[in-house]
Parts: sequence; C-alpha cells; structure tokens
Amino acid sequence: MPQVSERLAALSPSETLAMSQKSDELKAQGIDVINLSVGEPDFFTPDLIKAAAKKAIDENFSFYSPVPGYLSLRKAIANKLKRDNGLDYSPAQIVCSNGAKQAVCNVLLSIVGAGDEVIVPAPYWVSYVEMVKLAEGTNVIVTAGIDQNFKITPQQLEAAITSKTKALILCSPSNPSGSVYSHDELQGLAEILAKYPNITVISDEIYEHINYIGKHASIAQFEAIRDRVVIVNGVSKAYAMTGWRLGWIAAPQWIAAACIKLQGQYTSGPNSIAQKAAEAAYTGSQECVETMRQAFERRRNLMIDLASGIPGLKVNHPEGAFYLFPDCSAYIGRSYKGKRIEHSADLAMYLLEEGHVAAVGGLAFGAPDCIRFSYAAADEQLIEAMERVKAALARLD
Ligand code: PMP
Ligand code: GLU
Repeated sequence: MPQVSERLAALSPSETLAMSQKSDELKAQGIDVINLSVGEPDFFTPDLIKAAAKKAIDENFSFYSPVPGYLSLRKAIANKLKRDNGLDYSPAQIVCSNGAKQAVCNVLLSIVGAGDEVIVPAPYWVSYVEMVKLAEGTNVIVTAGIDQNFKITPQQLEAAITSKTKALILCSPSNPSGSVYSHDELQGLAEILAKYPNITVISDEIYEHINYIGKHASIAQFEAIRDRVVIVNGVSKAYAMTGWRLGWIAAPQWIAAACIKLQGQYTSGPNSIAQKAAEAAYTGSQECVETMRQAFERRRNLMIDLASGIPGLKVNHPEGAFYLFPDCSAYIGRSYKGKRIEHSADLAMYLLEEGHVAAVGGLAFGAPDCIRFSYAAADEQLIEAMERVKAALARLD
C-alpha cells in the first residue's frame, strides 16, 4: 500500500488555517460564525497597488521573472530597508518568494540539516516548528509565559545554546502574542548572539508596521551580528495583500544565493503581477499603512477592554500585530455536557461549536494555557464576538 513519506507523516497541518476552514464550513451550513482565527487584515488592498497590478497585466508582465524577483522590486525593497530601518542592503541580498511563509522555509531548508538545532521562542507562529521538522532539524523551544510578556530573556537564550545550534527564529512584533521586543531587549539578545558566531538569526518582521510603541526595532541593527541576520518581511500584513503571496528576505549573500538555488528548483520567481503590485506598495504613498495601523490600535484597545471583562481570562497588553493572547487556564479542566476541556485547543473548538466564535488554541503555538483571537475584524464584530465568548465560557461546568 503506497504511503506518504515519514517526513510528511511527521508534519502537523496548520492549525490557523484549519480553524479558519472549520469556521467557513459552519458558515456554509448557515451558522453565523465570527471568524477571529486566521490572522489577516480585513481591509481591501489599497487602490494604488491594485492599479499597478492592472497596469502590469496590460504591459504584459506575463513571463517568468528572475528567480529572486525583478531587479526593480529588489531595489524598491533595498530602498525601503534604508528608509524605514536605516539598513543598507544591495538588491543581490534580497530574494522574493511566495509569501513570507516560503521565505522562512527557504532559509531553514538552506541552512538546517539533520542534527542541527533551531531555537524557537514559545509562543511561536505555528509554521516555524513544522518547517524545522521539514528541514530535519531539531526544535529547541524556549518558553516565555504571559508573566514575562511572552518575551525571552538573554539568560534564557544563552541557556538554550549548544554546539549544535544553527539558528534562532525571532518574531517581533509577534504572532501569536502581539509582543514587541524593544531596542534594549534586542540588544540584550544580540550581545549573547555576538558570542556565538555560528548562529544565524531569522528575524521575522512581517508585522513591522503594526506596532503601537512607535518605531520598529530590528535585530539586524546591531553591527556585531548584522552579517548573521536574515530579515523576513513581505506585503501581506502591512498592505493588506495576503492573497497576493509576496514575501522576501534580506540576507547575507551566501544565504540569498542558497535560497535562489533552492527556489530555482521548486517554485521559480514569485508571481510577476504580485511583484509589480508589491513594487508599487513600497514606492508609493505609505499613508494607507498608517491608516490601517491606527484602526488596529483602536481595536487592540477595544479587545483588551472586552477580554478584561471576562472572568478568568488573564490579559496582557500586546504592543503590536493584531492578536490578543489571553491566558485561559482557568477554563481548562472544566466541562460541557460531560465533555472535559483538556487544553486550549479543546476550548477553541468549544467556543466555535457552542459560541460560534472561531479562535485558535494556544497549544499549536506552544502555549497550551492561552488562546489567540485575531482582532483584524470590524469593531461591531469584535464586540459581538467577545459577548459570545463571555456567555459561552459562563456555561461551562
Ligand atoms: N510570519 C508570520 C509571523 C505570520 O504571521 C505570517 C502570516 N501568515 C507569515 C510569516 C507569512 O506571511 P505571508 O506568507 O502571507 O507573507
Ligand atoms: N499567519 C496567519 C495566522 O497565523 C495566517 C495563516 C497562516 O499562514 O498560518 O493566522
């Protein structure tokens, strides 16, 4: 009997996408579900970006692009890195892919092999640990709970480093916690990393612009480790372009070359029209980014208020991204109609089936006591959703 490979059998499906799909299935049955599971802006792609894509079609950008993306896009990204982050990169150090998701996976497949360890701070975005498994590496999870605002300390980082450590995956602003590392906190981590020259830092900055503490800080800004940092970013979140599938890395030359070789064999350059749209996003007016950021900040404040009014939820004050990640451990071990809630994934399923609100249990993010609500939804929906959550939680025995 033919079977999938061991590599595939060991892989878990994406919980964020799975919960969203379940929510869609219930909606298709006519049930009024509020979907706060998948993390994507609810805004439409700004008009100037859509116009650039239409123009690209008319101008026949219909051929294969270079594998790392058009030079004009990579120049626009290099200019963005200078403008927004004060960092100097040449277009040759930039590789564009089918979303930041592929960008992270490319890097891991390029540098991690059997026996290599990758330090992944928890809570983590679901896909990191699965990608490390795909690369046949070993995940070394470093846990930071809500009591430390979900951020690891330099001491925790150093304690996790061994002679086999190949990479650290850092995500700030963070999915799923919304936590943001300050400049000083990053400096503390960078000082440790400076002592270990074999470690590459994969710095996922896809939520860069969805930041409520002012300026974004990147760990690539620290000279001592700069040549070992790979910045991952893309247009999905900042420009409401999740479906366009365009992400990128800014990397040391040897990692960029490795990703180009890899991508050249299994996907080629990303979609040509999406590339022209992304170029317009980076070179055009940035007003839309700030408008959306302000809306997310308002909703963040609303969600903190709403969730704080639900007995038993422990809520912190996320400083970025569009997720609230309360500790819901007070409800673990409770039951409904005789069925016990064993962990946060069970709780998320209960909220979906009985409360008609889709969220994602923290188990998939390495934080089984927490639950993730994406607040990239209209204010009225957020209010209604949290009322439903409150009522459903109150029904638990
Ligand atoms: N990194 C993080 C932390 C994310 O939340 C996402 C969202 N899907 C991605 C990477 C991938 O983004 P995309 O592939 O849409 O560019
Ligand atoms: N990153 C988003 C999320 O965490 C999109 C879904 C995904 O790609 O996992 O919900």
